[in-house]
Amino acid sequence: MQMPKPAEGNIRIKKRIFIGLLTASIAFIVLMLLVGVFIYLNKFGNWYRYILLFIVAFLSVLIFIVSIGLTGVVMTLWHVKTFFGLQGLMNTSINILFPMALVIGKILHIPKDIIKSSYIEVNNKLTQSRVFNIDSKKILILAPHCLQKWDCPYKVTTDVSNCHHCGRCDIDRLWKLSQQKGVNLAVVTGGTLARKMVVEYKPRAIVAIACERDLTEGILDTNPLPVIGILNVRPEGPCKNTCVDVDRVSEAVDFFLKGKAGRSIEEFEKCQRIGH
Ligand code: SF4
Repeated sequence: MQMPKPAEGNIRIKKRIFIGLLTASIAFIVLMLLVGVFIYLNKFGNWYRYILLFIVAFLSVLIFIVSIGLTGVVMTLWHVKTFFGLQGLMNTSINILFPMALVIGKILHIPKDIIKSSYIEVNNKLTQSRVFNIDSKKILILAPHCLQKWDCPYKVTTDVSNCHHCGRCDIDRLWKLSQQKGVNLAVVTGGTLARKMVVEYKPRAIVAIACERDLTEGILDTNPLPVIGILNVRPEGPCKNTCVDVDRVSEAVDFFLKGKAGRSIEEFEKCQRIGH
């Protein structure tokens, strides 16, 4: 099934939204720190001063750590440098700032789904800046149940091989892809089953297909496992007869199998647009 590909410009703008909100979150923490310093210097007696001093010191350390992490994220995204030793710190900084970025986005009337898809783009780009060479058995494709045709009687969530391959939905193509590449495929009804599958398969990398909300929660949940997130397409609205660009899933699997030898999703999209 041919899916519309996002323009390269959109991808860049999407990443900027999330990075902008992370920067605004740091600015907000700095503002709180300055308010703390102001109160410390002007308002309270000795007792409260020590508490404030502790808060100011805590915020200063927090700002220092997340600023280093965010600098690493931005430089990796701009291809300035890949900081292999800083991956953990970069992930931690994003995790700390993410809830604050959502609140600031809400104040600025930026729709949640746009912020979340921006986060997914940033996550994918950071994952693609690394090199992988993972055994196919240790790669898991996690697909949502809503990809299955709503009137299909076969229970693919218990076992994907229950699919009768009528070709009416993308479960059929994903199953063939998993057989061809030798990777695991699980179809899940939600976060609880997805977590169960991760515990069961113990993957070293995941290609996750879902909507903005489920993908974001899944990526945050499975951190620090490397995840490439691919948004499903919802021509009939959410949670019913959705589809996915299986070629993108295949590219993501190849990336984990061959590392940088495989093309990144963005390179793949670029090639698709110019007809390679
Ligand atoms: S491809 Fe498989 S899962 Fe999809 S509708 Fe046909 S039998 Fe059902």
